[in-house]
Amino acid sequence: MIETQKPDRAQDVLIDRFGRRVDYIRLSVTDRCDFRCVYCMSEKMTFLPRERVLTLEELYQVAQAFVSLGVSKIRLTGGEPLVRRGVIGLIRQLGQLDAELVITTNGSQLPKMARDLREAGVRRLNISLDSLHDDRFRAMTRIGNLDQVLAGVDAAIAAGFERIKLNAVVMKGRNDDEVPALVDYARDKGIDISFIEEMPLGNITEHDRAEAYCSSDEVRQMIEQHYSLTRTTERTAGPSTYFRMADSDSRIGFISPHSHNFCGDCNRVRVTVEGRLLLCLGNEHSVDLRAVLRAHPGDGEKLRQTLIDAMDLKPERHWFDLEDDEPQVIRFMNMTGG
Ligand code: SAM
Ligand code: SF4
Repeated sequence: MIETQKPDRAQDVLIDRFGRRVDYIRLSVTDRCDFRCVYCMSEKMTFLPRERVLTLEELYQVAQAFVSLGVSKIRLTGGEPLVRRGVIGLIRQLGQLDAELVITTNGSQLPKMARDLREAGVRRLNISLDSLHDDRFRAMTRIGNLDQVLAGVDAAIAAGFERIKLNAVVMKGRNDDEVPALVDYARDKGIDISFIEEMPLGNITEHDRAEAYCSSDEVRQMIEQHYSLTRTTERTAGPSTYFRMADSDSRIGFISPHSHNFCGDCNRVRVTVEGRLLLCLGNEHSVDLRAVLRAHPGDGEKLRQTLIDAMDLKPERHWFDLEDDEPQVIRFMNMTGG
């Protein structure tokens, strides 16, 4: 195991060619999932064989190397991170590192895991929830069970996380009419909610992403018919911009990869479960960390230098074009680590 090091030299932080400091990683712990959301996966997905997936120990080493380079926030994602066998042990280890540990989950495992996660040191949770109607929820996730997720939200609230945020991808003709109801649900529960514009990751043939596209500005207008929103300067180190309502603690966020490009102050990178370090969500620039880990087992310095060098590859920005017939990025969101 590599010894934890804190950054102590000027070069011991991750800075790209555009002067952006990277202090946030999204670490995918599995490409597998118990749902098949229509915007994220195709109906018949094949998943990676075990030998191509980083072991729990390798995932820990990657996180540890990043923290030694000044990364202060780790988000576990996937696929569905909580379906990976043994993940709670990894989370306990990560909880000991000097970084804020947060998870993005579809909520299905929270009824049984929420308390353990809190005890393991997870500070905040993002829970994906696109609809409050059984049939629609099933249609959007293909196999998900709404009651299980709602029970998961309640279990998370009971477990006392510092902040809980719902994430809803809004699609025209699918769930756009539920925006006010989702806001009311978040207000009732005293939690935050972010609305996400669907991104063209992976080749999905069942719906037309351009037709389903609902911009953050449209979503905001829907909400403003019920509540007046005040923009805040609050950030959570992620891409959301936040608004507040006068009579509630719940914040409303917008993640707008199309309409309000967030690349200028991008502070994050992703690591896929194959150990591919992705420098940008919407580009293919990457470095194979698995090769480094397996060619130099236990060599923390080699891994750290690889991460420092990789910063030169981080592109300035992404471009998403919904009119393009081919997706610019072939990998699906579950392979990317959302
Ligand atoms: N399974 C977990 C979940 O659903 O929260 C974590 C992984 S999921 C890939 C992370 C987030 O990405 C979810 O909030 C999901 O709604 C979002 N997402 C997936 N595919 C997307 C797409 N094509 N465009 C925008 N958001 C997407
Ligand atoms: Fe699974 Fe999350 Fe993708 Fe839905 S969005 S299929 S829950 S990984």
